[in-house]
Amino acid sequence: MAARPGPPGCVTLVGAGPGDPQLLTLQAVQAIASADVLLVDDLVHEAVLAHARPGARVLRVGKRGGQASTPQAHIGALMLREARAGQAVVRLKGGDPFIFGRGGEEVQQLRAAGYEPRVVHGITAGLAALGSLGAPLTHGERAHGVIFASGHLHAQAHQPQQQAARWQRMGEAVRDLQLTLVIYMGAGHAAEIQAGLLRALPADTAAAVIERATWPGQRQCVTTLGRLAQAMQAGGLGSPAIVVVGDVVLGAREALRREAEQTEQGQAVAAG
Ligand code: SAH
Repeated sequence: MAARPGPPGCVTLVGAGPGDPQLLTLQAVQAIASADVLLVDDLVHEAVLAHARPGARVLRVGKRGGQASTPQAHIGALMLREARAGQAVVRLKGGDPFIFGRGGEEVQQLRAAGYEPRVVHGITAGLAALGSLGAPLTHGERAHGVIFASGHLHAQAHQPQQQAARWQRMGEAVRDLQLTLVIYMGAGHAAEIQAGLLRALPADTAAAVIERATWPGQRQCVTTLGRLAQAMQAGGLGSPAIVVVGDVVLGAREALRREAEQTEQGQAVAAG
């Protein structure tokens, strides 16, 4: 008996990395180059699309740039429509598709329709953000694990009290287990995140905010948990940004430079 033909077309979820197009993987470049149609999220650098073949269609489904976010169900339906039409579909996402990228939901949706998507991983923003400061996520003495947390939960499902308790518990984990806390989508909620974490962590805990990591115009501040929201406001930092809390930040170049400056000033004062 002949094998039943599978569904036509194919779908690949591709992580485009944090921004800098040099951070694409070779698999990502190959997948982009063989796409008939690309569904592109926000936070994907334009230069990434230069790898697409001439004639490939580019559909933008992100929410920045003044457009309303394309609803997830619509994106799923669009992917299936194109795949069923026999197209090689690439779903291009910032960072990694499986870290706050709705990759899990899209895989489910596609499987339910008989498609097994391929997934090409990308460098996630949390890793790239710390890396851009010269700081690691883990450290033999200072950090024995990492929490990747969303700073933005569905408001209806999570009352402010629950939110505060959630940040407190994360703070306890950072403190008790010596973990690094990496917060995505937290820039707009810095004050409440700070308040919740301060229930468990001392105000002088190291913290950093990295806006548009690896993009031209990246900005960051290296500060303390006690000054987090204030420092963000002073520096005019906002979304998209990664907020990091934990001792790994002490390895950041800027923190080291500041420490050196303070020591120099101290020495100058002592000498004067
Ligand atoms: N899948 C992506 C995350 C998508 S959620 C990944 O793995 O990186 C979107 C959030 O990611 C933003 O709100 C921001 O917190 C973070 N983000 C994405 N790109 C970023 C960048 N270049 N610099 C800082 N934060 C970034």
